[in-house]
Amino acid sequence: RSRVSGPVPMSRSAAMARLLSTLAVLEQREGKLNVSSLAAVTAAQKLGGSITGFVAGSNVKSVAEEAAKVEGLEKVIFVENGDYDKGLPENYAPLVVENIKKGGYTHVLTGHSAFGKNLMPRVAALLDVQQISDITAIESEDTFVRPIYAGNAILTVQTADSPKLITVRGTAFAAGATEGGSAAVEEGVDPKAPCPTEWVSEDLAKSDRPDLATAQKVVSGGRGLKSKEEFDRLMPPLADALGAAIGASRAAVDSGFADNSLQVGQTGKNVAPQLYLCAGISGAIQHLAGMKDSKVIACIDKNAEAPIFQVADVGLVGDLFEAVPELTEKLKSA
Ligand code: FAD
Repeated sequence: RSRVSGPVPMSRSAAMARLLSTLAVLEQREGKLNVSSLAAVTAAQKLGGSITGFVAGSNVKSVAEEAAKVEGLEKVIFVENGDYDKGLPENYAPLVVENIKKGGYTHVLTGHSAFGKNLMPRVAALLDVQQISDITAIESEDTFVRPIYAGNAILTVQTADSPKLITVRGTAFAAGATEGGSAAVEEGVDPKAPCPTEWVSEDLAKSDRPDLATAQKVVSGGRGLKSKEEFDRLMPPLADALGAAIGASRAAVDSGFADNSLQVGQTGKNVAPQLYLCAGISGAIQHLAGMKDSKVIACIDKNAEAPIFQVADVGLVGDLFEAVPELTEKLKSA
Protein backbone atom coordinates (compact mmCIF):
# COMPACT_ATOMS: atom_id res chain seq x y z
CA ARG A 1 0.00 0.00 0.00
CA SER A 2 1.38 3.39 -0.92
CA ARG A 3 0.21 6.88 -0.22
CA VAL A 4 1.61 10.33 -0.76
CA SER A 5 1.12 12.41 2.36
CA GLY A 6 2.75 14.43 5.08
CA PRO A 7 4.40 12.81 8.08
CA VAL A 8 2.24 10.92 10.57
CA PRO A 9 3.30 10.50 14.18
CA MET A 10 5.25 7.33 14.99
CA SER A 11 3.22 5.01 17.19
CA ARG A 12 5.03 1.89 18.33
CA SER A 13 4.75 0.19 21.63
CA ALA A 14 7.83 -0.81 23.57
CA ALA A 15 6.56 -4.39 23.43
CA MET A 16 6.52 -4.29 19.62
CA ALA A 17 10.04 -2.85 19.55
CA ARG A 18 11.26 -5.86 21.52
CA LEU A 19 9.97 -8.19 18.80
CA LEU A 20 11.87 -6.42 16.05
CA SER A 21 15.20 -7.72 14.91
CA THR A 22 17.19 -6.15 12.11
CA LEU A 23 20.06 -7.48 10.05
CA ALA A 24 22.26 -4.58 8.89
CA VAL A 25 24.33 -5.74 5.90
CA LEU A 26 27.63 -3.83 6.11
CA GLU A 27 30.17 -3.23 3.37
CA GLN A 28 33.85 -3.90 3.62
CA ARG A 29 36.68 -3.28 1.19
CA GLU A 30 40.03 -4.97 1.55
CA GLY A 31 39.50 -5.74 5.20
CA LYS A 32 38.26 -2.28 6.15
CA LEU A 33 34.73 -1.50 7.24
CA ASN A 34 33.03 1.01 4.95
CA VAL A 35 31.88 3.55 7.51
CA SER A 36 29.22 5.03 5.22
CA SER A 37 27.43 1.65 5.25
CA LEU A 38 26.80 2.26 8.97
CA ALA A 39 23.85 4.47 7.96
CA ALA A 40 21.96 1.14 7.95
CA VAL A 41 22.72 0.75 11.68
CA THR A 42 21.52 4.30 12.42
CA ALA A 43 18.29 3.60 10.55
CA ALA A 44 17.88 0.27 12.39
CA GLN A 45 18.24 2.10 15.71
CA LYS A 46 15.26 4.25 14.74
CA LEU A 47 13.22 1.05 14.27
CA GLY A 48 14.15 -0.25 17.69
CA GLY A 49 14.66 -3.90 18.65
CA SER A 50 17.89 -5.84 18.30
CA ILE A 51 20.40 -5.11 15.54
CA THR A 52 22.84 -7.61 14.05
CA GLY A 53 25.61 -6.53 11.69
CA PHE A 54 26.69 -8.74 8.78
CA VAL A 55 30.00 -8.80 6.88
CA ALA A 56 31.52 -11.30 4.47
CA GLY A 57 34.81 -11.69 2.61
CA SER A 58 38.37 -12.81 3.23
CA ASN A 59 40.02 -12.08 6.61
CA VAL A 60 36.75 -10.54 7.64
CA LYS A 61 36.87 -11.51 11.29
CA SER A 62 38.87 -8.37 12.04
CA VAL A 63 36.23 -6.31 10.21
CA ALA A 64 33.58 -7.99 12.35
CA GLU A 65 35.56 -7.10 15.47
CA GLU A 66 35.84 -3.50 14.25
CA ALA A 67 32.08 -3.46 13.60
CA ALA A 68 31.45 -4.90 17.07
CA LYS A 69 32.51 -1.53 18.49
CA VAL A 70 29.79 0.29 16.53
CA GLU A 71 27.21 1.69 18.88
CA GLY A 72 23.82 0.00 18.67
CA LEU A 73 24.93 -3.42 17.39
CA GLU A 74 24.09 -6.40 19.60
CA LYS A 75 25.82 -8.99 17.47
CA VAL A 76 28.00 -9.11 14.36
CA ILE A 77 27.88 -12.11 12.04
CA PHE A 78 30.77 -12.74 9.68
CA VAL A 79 31.33 -15.22 6.87
CA GLU A 80 34.97 -15.82 6.01
CA ASN A 81 35.23 -16.56 2.29
CA GLY A 82 37.18 -14.64 -0.37
CA ASP A 83 34.41 -15.37 -2.91
CA TYR A 84 32.42 -12.56 -1.28
CA ASP A 85 35.19 -9.93 -1.45
CA LYS A 86 33.71 -8.03 -4.37
CA GLY A 87 30.11 -8.23 -3.21
CA LEU A 88 28.91 -9.88 -6.42
CA PRO A 89 25.16 -10.31 -6.00
CA GLU A 90 25.04 -13.74 -7.70
CA ASN A 91 26.57 -15.46 -4.68
CA TYR A 92 26.18 -12.70 -2.08
CA ALA A 93 22.36 -12.70 -2.32
CA PRO A 94 21.97 -16.44 -1.49
CA LEU A 95 24.48 -15.89 1.32
CA VAL A 96 22.40 -13.09 2.83
CA VAL A 97 19.18 -15.08 2.34
CA GLU A 98 20.56 -18.08 4.25
CA ASN A 99 21.63 -15.85 7.11
CA ILE A 100 18.25 -14.08 7.17
CA LYS A 101 16.52 -17.48 7.37
CA LYS A 102 18.80 -18.59 10.18
CA GLY A 103 18.34 -15.39 12.20
CA GLY A 104 14.61 -14.91 11.51
CA TYR A 105 14.98 -11.14 11.16
CA THR A 106 11.97 -8.86 10.76
CA HIS A 107 13.98 -6.23 8.84
CA VAL A 108 17.07 -6.28 6.62
CA LEU A 109 18.75 -2.95 5.93
CA THR A 110 21.70 -1.92 3.81
CA GLY A 111 23.01 1.30 2.27
CA HIS A 112 21.57 2.59 -1.00
CA SER A 113 25.06 2.35 -2.49
CA ALA A 114 26.18 0.51 -5.65
CA PHE A 115 26.59 -2.57 -3.42
CA GLY A 116 23.12 -2.28 -1.85
CA LYS A 117 21.40 -1.46 -5.13
CA ASN A 118 23.07 -4.48 -6.70
CA LEU A 119 22.39 -6.89 -3.87
CA MET A 120 18.97 -6.15 -2.41
CA PRO A 121 16.77 -6.75 -5.50
CA ARG A 122 18.16 -10.30 -5.76
CA VAL A 123 17.60 -10.92 -2.07
CA ALA A 124 14.03 -9.63 -2.50
CA ALA A 125 13.44 -11.90 -5.49
CA LEU A 126 14.80 -14.94 -3.67
CA LEU A 127 12.52 -14.25 -0.69
CA ASP A 128 9.58 -13.16 -2.89
CA VAL A 129 9.08 -9.86 -1.07
CA GLN A 130 9.11 -6.32 -2.35
CA GLN A 131 12.17 -4.20 -1.68
CA ILE A 132 11.74 -0.66 -0.37
CA SER A 133 14.47 1.53 -1.83
CA ASP A 134 16.33 4.63 -0.74
CA ILE A 135 14.37 5.48 2.41
CA THR A 136 14.95 8.85 4.05
CA ALA A 137 12.81 8.36 7.17
CA ILE A 138 11.14 5.67 9.27
CA GLU A 139 7.64 6.32 10.55
CA SER A 140 7.01 2.96 12.18
CA GLU A 141 8.14 -0.64 11.86
CA ASP A 142 6.13 -1.04 8.63
CA THR A 143 5.97 2.49 7.25
CA PHE A 144 8.82 4.24 5.47
CA VAL A 145 9.40 7.48 3.59
CA ARG A 146 11.21 7.68 0.27
CA PRO A 147 11.62 10.35 -2.40
CA ILE A 148 10.23 9.64 -5.88
CA TYR A 149 10.29 11.53 -9.20
CA ALA A 150 13.81 12.83 -8.52
CA GLY A 151 12.80 14.06 -5.09
CA ASN A 152 9.81 16.06 -6.36
CA ALA A 153 7.35 13.96 -4.36
CA ILE A 154 7.72 12.16 -1.08
CA LEU A 155 6.09 8.75 -0.85
CA THR A 156 5.05 7.12 2.39
CA VAL A 157 5.08 3.35 1.91
CA GLN A 158 3.46 0.80 4.19
CA THR A 159 4.32 -2.85 3.73
CA ALA A 160 2.99 -6.13 5.13
CA ASP A 161 5.95 -8.07 3.70
CA SER A 162 8.15 -10.07 5.99
CA PRO A 163 11.04 -9.63 6.22
CA LYS A 164 11.12 -6.01 5.19
CA LEU A 165 14.03 -5.41 2.82
CA ILE A 166 15.18 -1.83 2.76
CA THR A 167 17.99 0.27 1.31
CA VAL A 168 18.83 3.42 3.25
CA ARG A 169 19.85 6.81 1.86
CA GLY A 170 23.21 7.58 3.49
CA THR A 171 22.67 11.33 3.58
CA ALA A 172 19.45 10.89 5.59
CA PHE A 173 20.90 8.67 8.35
CA ALA A 174 24.32 9.81 9.54
CA ALA A 175 26.72 6.97 10.36
CA GLY A 176 26.81 6.54 14.12
CA ALA A 177 29.71 6.28 16.53
CA THR A 178 32.31 3.63 15.71
CA GLU A 179 33.42 3.38 19.32
CA GLY A 180 31.67 2.43 22.51
CA GLY A 181 29.80 -0.72 21.41
CA SER A 182 30.64 -4.26 22.47
CA ALA A 183 28.67 -6.61 20.24
CA ALA A 184 29.17 -10.38 20.24
CA VAL A 185 30.96 -11.70 17.14
CA GLU A 186 29.68 -14.94 15.61
CA GLU A 187 30.25 -16.95 12.47
CA GLY A 188 27.34 -17.08 10.02
CA VAL A 189 26.24 -19.76 7.57
CA ASP A 190 27.91 -20.04 4.16
CA PRO A 191 25.79 -21.68 1.43
CA LYS A 192 28.77 -21.42 -0.99
CA ALA A 193 26.42 -20.71 -3.90
CA PRO A 194 28.06 -20.78 -7.34
CA CYS A 195 28.86 -17.42 -8.92
CA PRO A 196 28.64 -17.39 -12.72
CA THR A 197 30.04 -13.84 -12.81
CA GLU A 198 33.76 -13.31 -12.62
CA TRP A 199 35.34 -10.12 -11.24
CA VAL A 200 37.83 -9.02 -13.88
CA SER A 201 39.15 -5.63 -12.79
CA GLU A 202 38.22 -2.21 -11.47
CA ASP A 203 39.46 1.23 -12.30
CA LEU A 204 38.90 3.49 -9.33
CA ALA A 205 39.31 7.25 -9.51
CA LYS A 206 41.91 8.13 -6.87
CA SER A 207 41.82 11.45 -5.09
CA ASP A 208 43.43 13.00 -2.03
CA ARG A 209 40.32 15.11 -1.57
CA PRO A 210 37.42 14.08 0.67
CA ASP A 211 34.97 11.54 -0.77
CA LEU A 212 32.21 13.41 -2.60
CA ALA A 213 29.33 11.38 -1.14
CA THR A 214 30.37 11.91 2.49
CA ALA A 215 32.29 15.24 2.39
CA GLN A 216 31.29 18.00 4.81
CA LYS A 217 31.96 20.60 2.10
CA VAL A 218 31.47 20.31 -1.64
CA VAL A 219 32.32 22.79 -4.39
CA SER A 220 30.61 22.05 -7.66
CA GLY A 221 31.07 23.40 -11.17
CA GLY A 222 28.70 23.49 -14.12
CA ARG A 223 28.51 24.33 -17.79
CA GLY A 224 29.26 27.96 -16.91
CA LEU A 225 32.92 26.94 -16.45
CA LYS A 226 33.05 26.73 -20.27
CA SER A 227 35.91 24.18 -20.64
CA LYS A 228 37.87 21.43 -18.89
CA GLU A 229 40.86 23.78 -18.72
CA GLU A 230 38.84 26.41 -16.85
CA PHE A 231 37.23 23.78 -14.60
CA ASP A 232 40.68 22.45 -13.68
CA ARG A 233 42.08 25.96 -13.23
CA LEU A 234 39.29 27.27 -10.97
CA MET A 235 37.64 24.42 -9.05
CA PRO A 236 40.57 22.49 -7.44
CA PRO A 237 42.13 25.60 -5.82
CA LEU A 238 38.71 26.57 -4.43
CA ALA A 239 38.19 23.02 -3.14
CA ASP A 240 41.67 23.01 -1.56
CA ALA A 241 41.11 26.38 0.10
CA LEU A 242 37.95 25.00 1.73
CA GLY A 243 39.08 21.39 2.27
CA ALA A 244 36.14 20.38 0.08
CA ALA A 245 35.30 17.58 -2.36
CA ILE A 246 34.67 18.51 -5.99
CA GLY A 247 31.34 17.88 -7.70
CA ALA A 248 29.91 18.77 -11.10
CA SER A 249 26.64 19.08 -12.96
CA ARG A 250 25.74 16.58 -15.64
CA ALA A 251 26.26 19.23 -18.32
CA ALA A 252 29.83 19.69 -17.06
CA VAL A 253 30.40 15.93 -17.03
CA ASP A 254 28.83 15.40 -20.47
CA SER A 255 30.97 18.23 -21.86
CA GLY A 256 34.09 16.48 -20.56
CA PHE A 257 34.96 19.16 -17.96
CA ALA A 258 34.84 16.69 -15.08
CA ASP A 259 34.91 12.94 -14.46
CA ASN A 260 31.64 11.01 -14.43
CA SER A 261 32.25 10.02 -10.78
CA LEU A 262 31.87 13.69 -9.78
CA GLN A 263 28.31 14.10 -11.08
CA VAL A 264 25.80 15.28 -8.50
CA GLY A 265 22.09 14.79 -9.07
CA GLN A 266 19.34 12.39 -10.02
CA THR A 267 21.63 10.25 -12.14
CA GLY A 268 24.75 11.06 -10.12
CA LYS A 269 25.55 11.17 -6.43
CA ASN A 270 23.35 12.38 -3.60
CA VAL A 271 25.18 14.73 -1.30
CA ALA A 272 24.09 16.56 1.85
CA PRO A 273 27.20 18.40 3.09
CA GLN A 274 27.31 21.25 5.57
CA LEU A 275 28.23 23.52 2.65
CA TYR A 276 27.43 23.09 -1.06
CA LEU A 277 29.03 25.88 -3.06
CA CYS A 278 28.37 25.83 -6.78
CA ALA A 279 29.43 28.00 -9.68
CA GLY A 280 27.95 28.13 -13.16
CA ILE A 281 25.17 25.65 -12.33
CA SER A 282 21.64 26.80 -13.23
CA GLY A 283 19.84 24.52 -10.75
CA ALA A 284 17.85 22.11 -12.96
CA ILE A 285 15.53 19.84 -10.94
CA GLN A 286 17.69 16.83 -11.75
CA HIS A 287 20.68 18.59 -10.20
CA LEU A 288 18.70 19.80 -7.16
CA ALA A 289 17.57 16.20 -6.55
CA GLY A 290 21.16 15.37 -5.56
CA MET A 291 22.05 18.36 -3.38
CA LYS A 292 19.02 20.18 -2.06
CA ASP A 293 19.34 18.58 1.40
CA SER A 294 22.71 20.34 1.89
CA LYS A 295 22.72 22.40 5.08
CA VAL A 296 23.97 25.63 3.46
CA ILE A 297 23.74 26.15 -0.29
CA ALA A 298 25.81 28.94 -1.82
CA CYS A 299 25.92 29.75 -5.53
CA ILE A 300 27.65 31.98 -8.04
CA ASP A 301 25.85 32.58 -11.31
CA LYS A 302 25.69 35.50 -13.70
CA ASN A 303 21.97 35.02 -14.32
CA ALA A 304 19.92 36.32 -11.38
CA GLU A 305 16.90 34.38 -12.72
CA ALA A 306 18.69 30.98 -12.53
CA PRO A 307 16.58 28.56 -10.42
CA ILE A 308 19.58 27.78 -8.20
CA PHE A 309 18.94 31.10 -6.42
CA GLN A 310 15.56 29.77 -5.27
CA VAL A 311 17.19 27.05 -3.16
CA ALA A 312 20.38 28.94 -2.24
CA ASP A 313 20.91 30.35 1.25
CA VAL A 314 23.58 32.66 -0.14
CA GLY A 315 23.88 33.72 -3.75
CA LEU A 316 26.23 35.93 -5.71
CA VAL A 317 25.09 37.29 -9.07
CA GLY A 318 28.29 37.75 -11.01
CA ASP A 319 30.90 36.39 -13.36
CA LEU A 320 32.41 33.23 -11.90
CA PHE A 321 35.70 33.82 -13.73
CA GLU A 322 36.20 36.83 -11.47
CA ALA A 323 34.36 35.67 -8.35
CA VAL A 324 35.88 32.20 -7.96
CA PRO A 325 39.57 33.26 -8.03
CA GLU A 326 38.79 36.19 -5.72
CA LEU A 327 36.95 33.95 -3.26
CA THR A 328 39.78 31.38 -3.40
CA GLU A 329 42.37 34.04 -2.59
CA LYS A 330 40.26 35.42 0.29
CA LEU A 331 39.78 31.93 1.73
CA LYS A 332 43.50 31.21 1.49
CA SER A 333 44.40 34.39 3.35
CA ALA A 334 41.63 34.03 5.93
P1 FAD B 1 23.20 25.05 -17.52
O1 FAD B 1 21.79 24.71 -17.18
O2 FAD B 1 23.54 25.36 -18.93
O3 FAD B 1 23.63 26.22 -16.56
C1 FAD B 1 24.83 26.91 -16.69
C2 FAD B 1 24.77 28.11 -15.76
O4 FAD B 1 26.01 28.79 -15.80
C3 FAD B 1 23.70 29.13 -16.15
O5 FAD B 1 22.86 29.41 -15.05
C4 FAD B 1 24.49 30.36 -16.57
O6 FAD B 1 23.85 31.57 -16.22
C5 FAD B 1 25.77 30.18 -15.76
N1 FAD B 1 26.93 30.86 -16.31
C6 FAD B 1 27.40 30.83 -17.59
N2 FAD B 1 28.53 31.57 -17.68
C7 FAD B 1 28.75 32.08 -16.45
C8 FAD B 1 29.75 32.94 -15.90
N3 FAD B 1 30.76 33.42 -16.67
N4 FAD B 1 29.67 33.28 -14.60
C9 FAD B 1 28.67 32.82 -13.81
N5 FAD B 1 27.69 32.02 -14.27
C10 FAD B 1 27.74 31.64 -15.58
N6 FAD B 1 21.91 17.23 -14.27
C11 FAD B 1 22.72 17.13 -13.19
O7 FAD B 1 23.44 18.09 -12.84
N7 FAD B 1 22.79 15.95 -12.50
C12 FAD B 1 22.06 14.85 -12.82
O8 FAD B 1 22.18 13.82 -12.16
C13 FAD B 1 21.18 14.95 -13.94
N8 FAD B 1 20.41 13.90 -14.27
C14 FAD B 1 19.52 14.05 -15.32
C15 FAD B 1 18.65 12.99 -15.62
C16 FAD B 1 17.74 13.14 -16.65
C17 FAD B 1 16.80 12.01 -16.95
C18 FAD B 1 17.71 14.35 -17.40
C19 FAD B 1 16.71 14.51 -18.50
C20 FAD B 1 18.56 15.37 -17.12
C21 FAD B 1 19.50 15.24 -16.07
N9 FAD B 1 20.37 16.27 -15.75
C22 FAD B 1 21.16 16.16 -14.65
C23 FAD B 1 20.55 17.45 -16.63
C24 FAD B 1 19.84 18.69 -16.15
O9 FAD B 1 18.52 18.71 -16.67
C25 FAD B 1 20.56 19.95 -16.66
O10 FAD B 1 20.68 19.90 -18.06
C26 FAD B 1 21.95 20.15 -16.08
O11 FAD B 1 21.91 20.02 -14.67
C27 FAD B 1 22.47 21.53 -16.44
O12 FAD B 1 23.77 21.68 -15.97
P2 FAD B 1 24.35 23.13 -15.66
O13 FAD B 1 23.53 23.79 -14.62
O14 FAD B 1 25.81 22.99 -15.45
O15 FAD B 1 24.18 23.86 -17.09
